[in-house]
This record gives sequence, C-alpha cells and structure tokens, in this order.
Amino acid sequence: MNATTATYVPQYRTTTEFLVVHCSATRPTQDIGVREVTQWHRQRGFDTVGYHYVIRRNGEVETGRPETAIGAHVKGHNAQSVGICLVGGINAAGKPESNFTQAQFEALKELLDQLQTRYPNARILGHRDLSPDKNGDGKITPNEFIKACPSFDISTWLRTQ
Ligand SMILES: [Zn+2]
Repeated sequence: MNATTATYVPQYRTTTEFLVVHCSATRPTQDIGVREVTQWHRQRGFDTVGYHYVIRRNGEVETGRPETAIGAHVKGHNAQSVGICLVGGINAAGKPESNFTQAQFEALKELLDQLQTRYPNARILGHRDLSPDKNGDGKITPNEFIKACPSFDISTWLRTQ
C-alpha cells in the first residue's frame, strides 16, 4: 500500500437518532461541493469528508461518506446521526446568513423525506440545536449555540414545508 494515500475504512452506525443539517460556512458565490469539502476535512485530519451528503448551490445532492457509516460532523453525536451539508451560510462579511437557494431547500426536503423513510424515528435538527444545554432548561437557546450552523432555524422551516 502507498503510505501517502489516505485510506478510509468506514465504521458503521448501529443507531440513527438524528438527521443533522449543516452549512459549509462559505459565501453564496463559492460554488463548491463534496470534492472541496473532502479536501478541507482531510486537511483537518479526518479520513475523508465528514458529511454523508453535500447539497450544492444548484441543488445537486452529492454523496460523501456512505450513509450507513459513522460521520464526522457533530461532536458527541456522530455515532447516532446522518450529516447533511448545505453549501453557503455566510455573507460577504463572513457573518451567518440563510442565503441558500430555492433549489437547495427543495433538495434538502426531498433528501430528508427519503432519509425519514429509512430512519423513521430520527429527529431532524440543525447542528446548533445539538449545542450543550448550559442552563439545563431543556431548550437550546441562541445564547447557548456553539456555532450558528446551519444559519437558520430548522424547526421553523420544517413547519412551513
Ligand atoms: Zn455544522
């Protein structure tokens, strides 16, 4: 084996409790996809891309890790979740912004519908909703968000679907 080639050996999940939506924290002008995210994640020391799916600006869904493998996208919950990344999520000034395209939201809805048929008990959450509940009131409020990802409120969006 070539020692300079990164090898990725999947480990498989036994439970799927969460479908976690992320953003790539890139500007809307950056037309990137799974290839670029894989490079960034390898630079951070991951074996490969941390997400299972990446949704490009044009709504194209690209496959990252095998869906049944443990991902690397949400601290403490990777062994129980599927990770989906929407490309975009920050504005020109680098601040969190829900600037995803209609095509991306449509693709996200379709993908989540498919995933829910395979994992009927899984809850759909945004990355920030899995921040620690610091004051223990059972709700994850904005002051507790460890990051803004995915830059919008998933539960509000789901209610309008
Ligand atoms: Zn995230």
